[in-house]
Amino acid sequence: GLDGRWTRRWIEAVAAEVARRKLELTALDRAIGDADHGENLDRGFQAVLGRLEALDDDATPGAVLKLVATTLISTVGGAAGPLYGTAFLKGSMAAGDRAELDAAGLVEVLTAARDGIVARGKAEPGDKTMVDAWTPAVDAAAAAGDDVRAALEAAAAAAAEGAAATEPLVAHKGRASYLGERAIGHRDPGSESTSLMLRAAAETR
Ligand code: ADP
Ligand code: MG
Ligand code: MG
Repeated sequence: GLDGRWTRRWIEAVAAEVARRKLELTALDRAIGDADHGENLDRGFQAVLGRLEALDDDATPGAVLKLVATTLISTVGGAAGPLYGTAFLKGSMAAGDRAELDAAGLVEVLTAARDGIVARGKAEPGDKTMVDAWTPAVDAAAAAGDDVRAALEAAAAAAAEGAAATEPLVAHKGRASYLGERAIGHRDPGSESTSLMLRAAAETR
């Protein structure tokens, strides 16, 4: 199963990938938003790295996720800060005080995270938001069976497809919704950062 140390390594990998791809995420947001998505997430995950050092070595997955949530809520701002903050907070609550997550536990955490984003942002699949990456990822993980590694890989692959599938869409939520048809042909930045996070999870050993 996925323990607290794995969770920490995953979050460190997300921070490294967000830093490496910061300009790319911001370029996506420049096309259909306000050109800050990469900077917003990089500020948040660099703050997370700093606070992770103070966490116990034997912290549970839920404790790591909760630290990510509170840090993102207080440092990211914009739309993505509260949305990802809620996702990690609901994921942390679903993990509870379990020491390890098996495939079923992972699906519970991913489902809670996605449901938290939907409750907060009211976006539906097809609205050209991060929900378009989260929803197929949750479905694919749930269909992957009882191998947690297979569930992670399925979630990452589905999120990448979901992010790519936002390109032809008109946006119905967030800043991109002000653009009408001018949003067509551009990938939603939040769907791409969700894909990044889930790909990092699949790659973390
Ligand atoms: P802001 O738009 O405030 O500058 P960011 O650029 O950091 O915030 O994040 C933008 C991303 O947030 C979008 O690409 C989209 O995926 C996501 N988003 C915006 N509004 C919503 C919503 N109501 N529901 C789900 N996701 C949303
Ligand atoms: Mg923005
Ligand atoms: Mg902004």
